[in-house]
Amino acid sequence: MNKPKKIRRGESDSLVIEWENGKTTEISYVDLRDKCPCVSCQGETVLFSSYIPIKNPFKPVGFYEIEKIEPVGNYAVNIVWKDQHNTGLYSWDYLWEISRIDKEKT
Ligand SMILES: [Zn+2]
Repeated sequence: MNKPKKIRRGESDSLVIEWENGKTTEISYVDLRDKCPCVSCQGETVLFSSYIPIKNPFKPVGFYEIEKIEPVGNYAVNIVWKDQHNTGLYSWDYLWEISRIDKEKT
């Protein structure tokens, strides 16, 4: 499995991740937050009904700012945002996927 060797803050509100496979990817805090994998951000499909989260156009202070990043076991990080949102668990696979896409766009 591809794992990050190092995660650091980039120069422009972004996260730079150095991977064991030698690649470096970067993702902006905005993309990172918009792609928060938790249920309240992304919704959940339960049997035949799906819960679609309400997109609130109002972003609280600190919505796109990172308070801290905590490692979870050896497979993910938990990102605590400055608006106190802390339920998003970003697995290595997921981080790789979203940061790689972000990199390829630019
Ligand atoms: Zn979330």
